[in-house]
Amino acid sequence: MQTELRPHHLLCVQKFSGHGYDETFTAHMYHLAWRLKGIPRTPIKLVEGGDQLCAVCPNRDGAVCRSHEKAKSIDEGVLKACGLSYGSTGSWKELSQKAAAAVFAIEEFEKICGSCQWFELCKNTETEGSCK
Ligand code: SF4
Repeated sequence: MQTELRPHHLLCVQKFSGHGYDETFTAHMYHLAWRLKGIPRTPIKLVEGGDQLCAVCPNRDGAVCRSHEKAKSIDEGVLKACGLSYGSTGSWKELSQKAAAAVFAIEEFEKICGSCQWFELCKNTETEGSCK
């Protein structure tokens, strides 16, 4: 079954180390990361705006992310770095590897994700086993 993700969540899932906004969000992230890493051929579609992680996020006010501008800017940075667009599809393996190669080089990573509250944590988290 196709999984819809906003572009920057290609990165968040790979760097997930058990920390999240609250218990529900963290449990959902854990389950998603476990599923994608376990089934790397899972088809992904990149979507604009909220996805399934946003749906359980406490930073959401109705349908809108309270950090909308920041999240959008990180999404667009990821798309640009990867040569992708909203609506792009591919397997989790293909898209996560593309995002890792394009963004996790430290200069791009800080440029794109530096304004995120999780950046320091992610910077110090290895992505081993993310994209088998
Ligand atoms: S902070 Fe915003 S972009 Fe990030 S998961 Fe929550 S609602 Fe989605």
